[in-house]
Amino acid sequence: MNDLQKRTWAEISLPNIRHNYEAIRACLPAGCRFLGVVKADAYGHGALPVAHLLQDSGADYLAVSCLDEALELRRGGVTMPILILGHTPHEYTETLIDNDLTQTVSALAKAQEYSEAAFALGKKLRIHIKLDTGMSRLGFLCAGEHFAGGVENVVRSIGLPGLETEGIYTHFAVSDEPGEDCEAYTREQFRLFTDVIAAVEEKSAFHFPIRHCANSGAVLHYPEMALDMVRPGLLLYGYGDEEGKLGLRPCMRLVTTVSTIKYYEPGTSVSYGRRFVCQRRTRMGVLAIGYADGLPRILSNRCSFAAGEGFAPQCGSICMDMCMVDLTDRPEVHVGDEVEIFGAKNDINALAAAAGTISYELLCSIFKRVPRVYL
Ligand SMILES: *Cc1c(COP(=O)(O)O)cnc(C)c1O
Repeated sequence: MNDLQKRTWAEISLPNIRHNYEAIRACLPAGCRFLGVVKADAYGHGALPVAHLLQDSGADYLAVSCLDEALELRRGGVTMPILILGHTPHEYTETLIDNDLTQTVSALAKAQEYSEAAFALGKKLRIHIKLDTGMSRLGFLCAGEHFAGGVENVVRSIGLPGLETEGIYTHFAVSDEPGEDCEAYTREQFRLFTDVIAAVEEKSAFHFPIRHCANSGAVLHYPEMALDMVRPGLLLYGYGDEEGKLGLRPCMRLVTTVSTIKYYEPGTSVSYGRRFVCQRRTRMGVLAIGYADGLPRILSNRCSFAAGEGFAPQCGSICMDMCMVDLTDRPEVHVGDEVEIFGAKNDINALAAAAGTISYELLCSIFKRVPRVYL
């Protein structure tokens, strides 16, 4: 980045991502594979640099949400296995095969479409079967009365001639939440997952090479559910390990700069909607960050940022490209100085809570125009 253009940027520590990868890896059972989730531009950290780092570090698999994200990685020289977690229309079966991508299959009808397309090309599409054990999102239904039908549909899917089944997985709804109910729900999801696998393997004499279910919450709280591969996203980026069990390090710092500073008399209103009125003579700074950079407007008048030796409260409606902060108590802060929106000094979780959301959403809402600067 050109120093003169310093406006707002996201500082990303690749060494910290590598540290987190190794810390997570160190607590896995022997032989357990590591899949790094790099969907949504690696949670805002930049899919290509993160994917290359994981590839060079010896990770086994990557996961993305959709075909476009997978192709971006292939075009960028990533050669390791990539699993697409979401749906891909069967018209793209050839693209999937030619790019050596692994597609999730979440229903028998989709399995049949992919198989027909692959078979017509004289090729096979590598797939992972996805079970819906209680997330109620993608996946073969298999809970309760759907058990036998679910098992039957999976058996039929893996027997199709155009498909090469490499894995089977499911996704937890509350593995990252405390409380007995959440624990019971997660254990029930896991039990159902392993029961379906056992029933399918018995019926088909097929053995799933890679069984996986552990997202970040499960890696942290249910190490016994690692199976053949774990599938963390958030932990890799250094969040979600609130008790510091794994000693993970946050990898992103969102930084902006002070554009101007002015003094206002008591009674002066600030920004759109006049939702903030100065109560004292106020030294007000304008920051070069707004909701079009990914700072949620809902945080207006509800947050503080790290500036100088302490913190500065945000004042008035957050605008598209700017917002204001009260620097009266921070006389050491001047025009051009850096202000940390979140990072080592200003906890992203506090900011997320004030916005009524989770760290995930803040991370992946940082817009394209915010340059990523890699350390
Ligand atoms: C996003 C996602 C993950 C990673 O979740 P984290 O909570 O970030 O670890 C794992 N598996 C699936 C299917 C996902 O969609």
